[in-house]
Amino acid sequence: MTITPLLARRTRNMGASAIREILKVASRPGMISLAGGIPAPESFPMHIMRDVIDSVIEKYGPNAFQYDLTEGFLPLREALAAYLADKGVAAAPEQVLIASGSQGALDGLGKILISPGDHVALEAPTYLGALQAFTPYEPQYVQIETDHRGMLPDALENALERHPVKFVYLVPNFQNPTGRTLPLKRRRAIAEIIQRFDTLLVEDDPYGDLRYRGTPLPPIKSMAPDHVVYISTLSKVFAPGLRMGFSLAPDRVRRWLVLAKQGVDLHTSTFNQALAAEYLAGGHLKRHLPHIVDLYRPRQQAMLDAMARFFPDAFTWSVPDGGMFVWAEGPEGMDMEAVNRKALERNTAFVPGTFFFARPGDGRETLRLNYTMADEATLSRAIELLGEVLSDALSQ
Ligand code: PMP
Repeated sequence: MTITPLLARRTRNMGASAIREILKVASRPGMISLAGGIPAPESFPMHIMRDVIDSVIEKYGPNAFQYDLTEGFLPLREALAAYLADKGVAAAPEQVLIASGSQGALDGLGKILISPGDHVALEAPTYLGALQAFTPYEPQYVQIETDHRGMLPDALENALERHPVKFVYLVPNFQNPTGRTLPLKRRRAIAEIIQRFDTLLVEDDPYGDLRYRGTPLPPIKSMAPDHVVYISTLSKVFAPGLRMGFSLAPDRVRRWLVLAKQGVDLHTSTFNQALAAEYLAGGHLKRHLPHIVDLYRPRQQAMLDAMARFFPDAFTWSVPDGGMFVWAEGPEGMDMEAVNRKALERNTAFVPGTFFFARPGDGRETLRLNYTMADEATLSRAIELLGEVLSDALSQ
């Protein structure tokens, strides 16, 4: 039997991902990988896991192992409502919808909102996983221009004037892949624009708590609650393997997200939700977060210091206030996929930036570097090597 004629059109859209191949090569033994986007295993609070598991079993007994509401385990939704209140976002526990990772929330939004040909506006570059979640539903992407501080409100306004979009998608804090953070003034401007155009905004905020400098900025959700779906996750501040994400959507959107989720997985793992509830309500997150920040801050600094020393003058890069990534740009005409092949030969991996653009071929001279998965000395060595590969490529 040949499978191709059996595949739905949306399945054919999924395509093979070149980045997956890079990540596979990057995980070979002996490779120093700046390619991944995952938290350091030593950031997981292993010292409290047994206690948290014990208290879940004590507190909830068999209920922690039973089917539960599609919307989510109520103690977790209560804890998340309190967590959101600390960020200036008002939420009743009933309004919080748990997802299997924030990726689950992105897929749910694609499923309920996008018909083939609908316009979806997003940053250029943007989070690759969002493209993977939305693309099967066959949207037309509208790339909104960004600068070193994220999405340009004027560019968004111009795009919305040209044609209506189903939603705007952005990552406001320490964006993946650029590390950029949207300033307060732009958040206010974007909140005003989406309300004026009566448009939905998906604000994806997995990195907001990983701040190494400066003061936290309020989510756009707090400025336009009826027009924003706020999405976040415990993947970067607890443990990604638990797949614990959530959304806070306007009521009229949440209803449909719940129905869509019923068809996907009935609900997210009850036991994992109970662990997350304990982690938040027991004060563990507040106690542990500073340790994660203290682990990553010097790693980021080591990467930035090494880039200043070893990267060719023709390169510029972001200096993020938090998160997991640095974004670099070389001179126009440079092909980072070719450079990446050379770097892989020398056992160093990164992700060419072009994969993060909705429009094929854009951003060929860019690259994303991750600093959470290696110690400072290893990062410096990898950047020195990469600096050599980049200099060689420039001189050819
Ligand atoms: N959004 C962004 C911007 C991300 O960087 C990630 C993780 N790479 C996710 C969503 C998905 O995270 P998770 O599904 O683990 O919550």
